Amino acid sequence: MRPLSYSRAGQVEEAVAIAIREPGSAFLAGGTTEVDLIRAGIERADHLVDINHLPLSAVDDLPDGGLRIGALARMSDVARTAAVVERYPAISQALLLGASEQLRNMASMGGNLRQRTRCAYLRDGVSPCNKREPGSGCAALEGFNRGHAILGTSEHCIATHPSDVAVALVAFDAVVHTLGPDGERSIPFDDFFLLPGDTPELEHPLVHGELIVALEVPGAPIARRSVYLKFRDRQSYEFALVSVAAALEVSDDVVTGARLAFGGIGTKPWRARRAEAALIGSPADETSFRLAAALELESADVREHNAFKVELATRAAVRGLREALR
Ligand code: SF4
Repeated sequence: MRPLSYSRAGQVEEAVAIAIREPGSAFLAGGTTEVDLIRAGIERADHLVDINHLPLSAVDDLPDGGLRIGALARMSDVARTAAVVERYPAISQALLLGASEQLRNMASMGGNLRQRTRCAYLRDGVSPCNKREPGSGCAALEGFNRGHAILGTSEHCIATHPSDVAVALVAFDAVVHTLGPDGERSIPFDDFFLLPGDTPELEHPLVHGELIVALEVPGAPIARRSVYLKFRDRQSYEFALVSVAAALEVSDDVVTGARLAFGGIGTKPWRARRAEAALIGSPADETSFRLAAALELESADVREHNAFKVELATRAAVRGLREALR
């Protein structure tokens, strides 16, 4: 058994100061993933800084029509916030399709972004895994890789990012706000999640002691008719094989604005920028939707068990864009 100490912070600055003082510390919010990882020996924290009493749970309007979501807002609360449901339905739907009701009641928005991949080889504690033990290899490359990524992979890691809501957030240009040893930072969502490359153990650009304090989603009229669809092996409490966040603006049957992002197929929440660019100026029909999705998936790097994801993702995108038209 490893000793684990605990402290509780009452203010954001205090939490950061404690974390900096304790080099082996980690922040504890809902604990729905952090505690599992510590028990499994994947996270090696020896001190937990409880941040649940920090005043970071509000969801506030921004002047441009966007929202500022506190990092400690619980998933279920954000999903049912009227402004989220009305202005960003894909975000609300993604939250409600994640985890279980009990977990959503506990899990924080900031923690959701920090959750780690569900790759079984990472979590079994013994298989070669470059995320757990850099340089040890990747058991998934030649192993059972049905659930693994086809976009953004490297020869060192092919794990997917597991979050649903991050897929919807990346589609609408969310920004992560932090406070850390060097003060405040704003990190565009697309830069917050790192591709595995040669360093799969690095998953985000946060430094030790840097705390996520909020997410901001800029005003986006296109998001008002957005959708989030999730395809998985069973209909509840399961991670996505493929998911899609989609939104469209159409004038005279021609696409004038498009947002498309994938989950379940990328090593990070995957903004489909090539597909979006292809959609602009195209007829708002299934042929265009399919061509755009196929373009995005041209660079797919498939393995023995996950090649089916190319067609599944294409169909998911077509269906998502079609539903966003309604
Ligand atoms: Fe580890 Fe990534 Fe390989 Fe999974 S895919 S075993 S997380 S290196």
